[in-house]
Amino acid sequence: MNEFYPNLLQPLDLGFTTLRNRVLMGSMHTGLEDRFFNIERLATYFAERARGGVGLIITGGYAPNRRGELLPLGSRMQDKATAFLHKRVTKAVHNEGGKICLQLLHAGRYGYVPYSLSPSGIKSPITPFKPSKMSGKNIKSTIDDYAKAAGLAKYAGYDGVEIMGSEGYLINQFLCERTNKRTDQWGGTPEKRMRFAIETVRRVREEVGKNFIIVYRLSLMDLVEGGQEWEHIAVLAKEIEAAGATIITTGIGWHEARIPTIVTSVPRGAFSFATKKLKALVSVPVVASNRINTPEVAENIIAGGDADMVSMARPLLADPFFVQKAEAGRADEINTCIACNQACLDHTFANKRASCLVNPRACHEMELHYLPTQNKKKVAVIGAGPAGMAASTVAAERGHDVTLFDASDRIGGQFNIAKEVPGKEEFAETLRYFGKMIEKHGVTLTLNHKVEAQELIDAGFDEVIVATGITPRKPGIEGIDHKKVLSYIDVMLHKKHVGKKVAIIGAGGIGFDVGEFLVHTHSEDELAQWYDEWGVDTTLENRSGLKKANVLPSPRKVYLLQRKETSLGKGLGKTTGWVHRSVLKQKGVEMIAGTSYDRIDDAGLHITVNGKQRVLDVDHVVLCAGQTPKRDLADALEAAGAKAKGINVHLIGGADVAAELDAKRAIDQGSRLAAKI
Ligand code: FAD
Ligand code: NAP
Ligand code: SF4
Repeated sequence: MNEFYPNLLQPLDLGFTTLRNRVLMGSMHTGLEDRFFNIERLATYFAERARGGVGLIITGGYAPNRRGELLPLGSRMQDKATAFLHKRVTKAVHNEGGKICLQLLHAGRYGYVPYSLSPSGIKSPITPFKPSKMSGKNIKSTIDDYAKAAGLAKYAGYDGVEIMGSEGYLINQFLCERTNKRTDQWGGTPEKRMRFAIETVRRVREEVGKNFIIVYRLSLMDLVEGGQEWEHIAVLAKEIEAAGATIITTGIGWHEARIPTIVTSVPRGAFSFATKKLKALVSVPVVASNRINTPEVAENIIAGGDADMVSMARPLLADPFFVQKAEAGRADEINTCIACNQACLDHTFANKRASCLVNPRACHEMELHYLPTQNKKKVAVIGAGPAGMAASTVAAERGHDVTLFDASDRIGGQFNIAKEVPGKEEFAETLRYFGKMIEKHGVTLTLNHKVEAQELIDAGFDEVIVATGITPRKPGIEGIDHKKVLSYIDVMLHKKHVGKKVAIIGAGGIGFDVGEFLVHTHSEDELAQWYDEWGVDTTLENRSGLKKANVLPSPRKVYLLQRKETSLGKGLGKTTGWVHRSVLKQKGVEMIAGTSYDRIDDAGLHITVNGKQRVLDVDHVVLCAGQTPKRDLADALEAAGAKAKGINVHLIGGADVAAELDAKRAIDQGSRLAAKI
């Protein structure tokens, strides 16, 4: 029994096979699945997770036939040649002592293809194509295709399959009145709507025989109008077990639901209550999921009896060695997923290969290596923001002699501000992780020290990495030095008093974050407040798990302004922007596009919109007007002739390019540079 996480790390006996622990790596589409030439990359990516100790891996989704594809020529398991190719993946995982299941996913109306199918031919609000209604023949052949795909997965050496029955994909579409208006044997009553799911599991079991894992992902809360009632979900769970499922995993919310289910502002483990209710109904192991990102949270879910296993997907992108570190009592070395979606889901939706903001090696295991150096150098990194923390720790891990400087009294740079945003508390984990890596890899950390060019030259560094970040932009507006004007740093970091009426100039990521900071009302029980504000019914008595949202009023009147004519928040992350926009809308923030700023004076902020002048009578104006690179040190190094003196000077992060800078780019650039020097 593991002394640190005895429940999480306990083996799970499935009768015919045993999982080494209770950690399931949930399915994630990374983009490596879609092209055959990426098979080696896929194998390497999964093998690293298997080496890291995860109990059971689930692959990204594979369609059982062409019309079930997620995107044109997307991942499919339909022929023996493809299955043969997958032997490389299964072998690589088995060689590391791991187990892996292939996920079977028919996208139904979520297919980004003009030839998609669904039970009733109703278009989804999040895809451009109207699906065709499935004929009875289509339905039967699709079930056959699931069975055939499962058989091929077995041939490929997989330990099992996961049948994707949630998140609004085809099987879920059959289950709900919202998308299933059929009146034949596949619709019309809850029992008939369940038939497709049950029949699919039954046929898959028939095809693969007894000793093969069948995981079924069950939607416990659809979180959309016209979803399922709990009493029917309970019947379905029992039927799925009877039809041959080995494990039931938790699905929460359709992709089109307007309640966030995985973004960083969702409290950790917020949905395990639903899995607990499921656990009481079935005898197969059940798996909790969504926003489980530390071994403590996972351990508590299992110890508390909410589930038999936990599913973690993004946390295994962030750190493939999560389990190994937990096992050894080194949880403080885990690179924690901060649920930002910036390099994983946002990439997937943009049809780009997924990676991870905090771990640029994710899905790039064959290209990015932190190999020991053969040429130890003396390296200075100036600026301990995300770029500098990444560069210094990777360089030191490779064996260089690294000194990391920061003018401030702590590491983290702007992440110290980001973690103050309500719902972005996870960002503190990245600071904890890098703090630990600085210690572990022996980086010499020098804080409270504003570095000058000459001292770097005098100290004889071979490589100088300038990661000095940015300077907030001060727009040239009349009255910009008025006492009403504050910067986002004054508000978020120095916690300067902000009045009851506020205008925010600039509606980029920081403008939105400052908005959320200013409209947030703290409550004693933040979890209960979150369920209430988003309308999540934790009793599961209401259909779909929905209830009327009860949003606490904002303590302030807030205006959010930009000069562009486009709608505000357009540039925010694809999978997270809508959440930020919803929060500010719910809190009554007035968003104004096409603004020109006339002046700031005692009366407030004078603006012109559509040719009309207006005075916003505000107590404060907060500047979130973007940033420019902070290059004073880099310029001084150049002026002092550092290069001619044999010093290699590099610029990374905001100091390099401030426009569209985010921590994803900063960490990636810092890590890649340090991997090379
Ligand atoms: P910085 O983080 O700015 O760090 C630069 C460091 O250099 C500072 O610590 C500074 O003290 C130090 N320094 C400067 N000059 C010297 C000198 N001469 N000597 C010594 N030290 C010096 N990004 C995301 O990706 N996702 C988000 O959700 C997100 N949210 C954010 C929310 C807020 C409120 C803010 C303010 C930022 C957010 N960001 C987010 C942006 C992200 O924090 C930045 O992109 C990132 O911090 C840039 O990293 P950097 O290392 O280039 O610079
Ligand atoms: P930003 O996204 O570039 O936004 C700057 C805002 O200031 C824009 O709304 C811009 O809109 C306005 N602006 C620019 N110049 C101006 C001027 N001279 N006068 C008045 N307004 C001006 O930058 P940011 O909000 O400072 O964020 C910095 C970086 O941090 C971003 O690139 C972002 O990626 C990252 N970040 C990300 C997140 C996230 O959730 N992913 C959150 C926070 C920050 P107009 O020009 O239309 O007025
Ligand atoms: Fe987690 Fe963000 Fe990395 Fe995705 S990109 S795995 S959400 S830390």
